[in-house]
Amino acid sequence: MARPKLKDFRRIVVKVGSSLLVDAAAGEVREAWLAALAADLAKLHAGRRDILVVSSGSIALGRSRLKLPRGPLKLEESQAAAAVGQIALARIWAKVLAQHKIDAGQILVTLQDTEERRRYLNARSTIAKLLEWRSIPIINENDTVATNEIRYGDNDRLAARVATMASADLLILLSDIDGLYDSPPGANPNAKLIPVVESVSADIEAMAGAAESELSRGGMTTKIEAAKIATTAGTHMLIASGKIDHPLQAIADGGRCTWFLTPANPVTARKRWIAGSLEPKGTLTIDAGAVMALRAGKSLLPAGVIRVDGQFARGDAVIVRGPDTHEIGRGLVAYDADNAELIKGRSSSDAAQILGISGRAEMIHRDDLVIGAAPAA
Ligand code: GLU
Repeated sequence: MARPKLKDFRRIVVKVGSSLLVDAAAGEVREAWLAALAADLAKLHAGRRDILVVSSGSIALGRSRLKLPRGPLKLEESQAAAAVGQIALARIWAKVLAQHKIDAGQILVTLQDTEERRRYLNARSTIAKLLEWRSIPIINENDTVATNEIRYGDNDRLAARVATMASADLLILLSDIDGLYDSPPGANPNAKLIPVVESVSADIEAMAGAAESELSRGGMTTKIEAAKIATTAGTHMLIASGKIDHPLQAIADGGRCTWFLTPANPVTARKRWIAGSLEPKGTLTIDAGAVMALRAGKSLLPAGVIRVDGQFARGDAVIVRGPDTHEIGRGLVAYDADNAELIKGRSSSDAAQILGISGRAEMIHRDDLVIGAAPAA
């Protein structure tokens, strides 16, 4: 399959590893490099792309600010180092993006924020709002509170979850290596870079040796795991070297990298998941006007709902039925059953007022809705 082009993607997550951001010898942020990366990001952003950054470096940076000795850190030491480093990291991102008149928005997530549905939905709405406001979310794990058992520990897999959470169509892992090789390039001078991986097979997993570098946690193994998470959810991924200036421009110019292709696009993958694997917890009956709107690809608004049945929570799957009780489709509902009952038949602004929030206007967002494809109930 041909290599995709950077310009074909609309929503891109860029993960930046610690070893790129922090100069280990000087113990400082590589500011000139970061400014060049910010220029690349700004260019994509100006081309109407949504950009998200997953940035490592809090622990590495905190460690150098605090002048901690080399060697492994205890958990509470890395948490405290992250507390110092994250402030510096956020400041530097805000500064380099401000040069392009772009606001940076800091988001620190824990494993639970991406795995528990309610928290996942919250994080997803915050990200969606920042993107709507044309900010660039700068995301990291909340290392100051994450403990060993409940943390990602590496930002490769975190970035993959963020990409799927944000329905991104591309995840770029900028690393100290320019892609996946058929054997470890350090040990074998004839190792070949694999330009395109069409599916993450057992062979591919076997190729991912442990190319760890001192500052970053993620070796090739976590990158391959990230590729599995991303490509299953409909997000393409690529690994490219961040050791050069303007690394994104280099990719756009056809530079060396490894692409991991997804067979689906994120919305179709998500819809397949909704149609196939969720147990509906309730039913929304909608009026004829809403049936027409849904069939035309619109979201379901509270105004079109005439009846709410079942005990469901926000984010649960529900069946959507027309006025004649015929199943129209299925979707993930944005309100729990009690609130849905309160706002059914009301305009979106009434609904927001009734609930005392300025939440999402849609009862079910169109990206969360599968029309006609669902099996008969
Ligand atoms: N969250 C960690 C940090 O910011 C980095 C994890 C990683 O390097 O992948 O220091």
